[in-house]
Amino acid sequence: MSLSLSAEKPDVPDDAADGVWLECIDCAETFAPFEDVRYTCDACDSLLEVRYADLPTFDDFEGRGVWRYADALPLESGVSVQEGATPLYEVPRLEEEIGLEALRIKHEGMNPTGSFKDRGMTVGVAVATELGADRLACASTGNTSAALAAYGSRGGMETLVLLPAGKVAAGKIAQASLHGARILEVDGNFDACLDIVQELAGQGEAYLLNSLNPFRLEGQKTIGLEILEGFRDDYGAFPDRIVLPVGNAGNTSALYKAFRELVQAGELDRDEVPKLTGVQAEGAAPMVEAIENGANEVRRWDDVETRATAIRIGNPVNAPKALPGIRETDGTAISVSDEEITVAQRTLAAEGIGVEPASAASVAGLRKLRAEGIVADDERVACLTTGHLLKDPDAAAAAGNDPEPVPAETSGVLEHLAE
Ligand SMILES: *Cc1c(COP(=O)(O)O)cnc(C)c1O
Ligand SMILES: [Zn+2]
Repeated sequence: MSLSLSAEKPDVPDDAADGVWLECIDCAETFAPFEDVRYTCDACDSLLEVRYADLPTFDDFEGRGVWRYADALPLESGVSVQEGATPLYEVPRLEEEIGLEALRIKHEGMNPTGSFKDRGMTVGVAVATELGADRLACASTGNTSAALAAYGSRGGMETLVLLPAGKVAAGKIAQASLHGARILEVDGNFDACLDIVQELAGQGEAYLLNSLNPFRLEGQKTIGLEILEGFRDDYGAFPDRIVLPVGNAGNTSALYKAFRELVQAGELDRDEVPKLTGVQAEGAAPMVEAIENGANEVRRWDDVETRATAIRIGNPVNAPKALPGIRETDGTAISVSDEEITVAQRTLAAEGIGVEPASAASVAGLRKLRAEGIVADDERVACLTTGHLLKDPDAAAAAGNDPEPVPAETSGVLEHLAE
């Protein structure tokens, strides 16, 4: 299997440019990185990965944010609005309640547009510039479109976003709209939007910036690098486990790639690799199904439903990269109900951390795995929360307290409070 945790150094192909190339994860065909636009393998249509002749050590990283890790990225700089360097919050009460040696929340909602998608876009949009693209496109459950609109505009490019009509949270559409994207509302679900945008990209109509694009995942690797550095600095050891919500499984793939590269660079021992643990909503859990069945492929779910709209995905495109990641790191995958997600959203909010529903799935899943004894009490765990509370104000209002009408005078307010 090509996607294993191995310390072996790769052979550098002739088409590498400055030690960077694209390689098919199935047939190992290689391609020059920045000559032609390509998202999948010409030979077998499988997924591509960015590969490097030289991998950096922790000592090589300097600065703050995604571009701190430039030595682990395909370019030296990007189209940036200061993404990354997100907080790794302590949550003492939740740590105690769940019963863990240590628990930290890596809150990706603190990125410029409010989700981790910014980390991928700063790299992806820079590559688009390198390739001479003038129109960018994505299918999105919302956050990818918000990030693409912001980074595309900053890069001076036209952006098209295809969204499932009626299924995108209000904050996300507002962002895509104000940052100047053309919003195409598709009468279908996310997977249908992705099918269409892939066809548009295939016909040369636009440069595709979904997580099928291997360059975006390079930026998302930096989540893993920040978590590892944060735990090493605070606990003197890397985390035992990273729990994250799974939609298209881009982050799962990106974190696994970060670990593989660190193992290859001799910076991480095979037995120090954190266990990748994916969480999906019960109504959209094809990855969980594949892990439970020991399957090498994911069965596409045509009807998906969950309040956690960011992970309302039935055909996770990065599954071939993510399944080995979960298995090789001894991780697992679990599904949670919408009610469990809402409860976790409230728990995080009670610690001062505001997240959107999909993000809370990680905490809901961790709680369940700990209760089932699959996660042990001596583990140090990082939970990823992927998007900000304000992304989905309707979900937040529904999960939180109702406003209480009071008269416009102090005595009336006091009377109300005394009731
Ligand atoms: C995109 C997104 C996800 C899903 O991430 P994948 O990398 O596609 O698995 C989860 N949560 C939020 C808030 C997102 O925006
Ligand atoms: Zn191939």
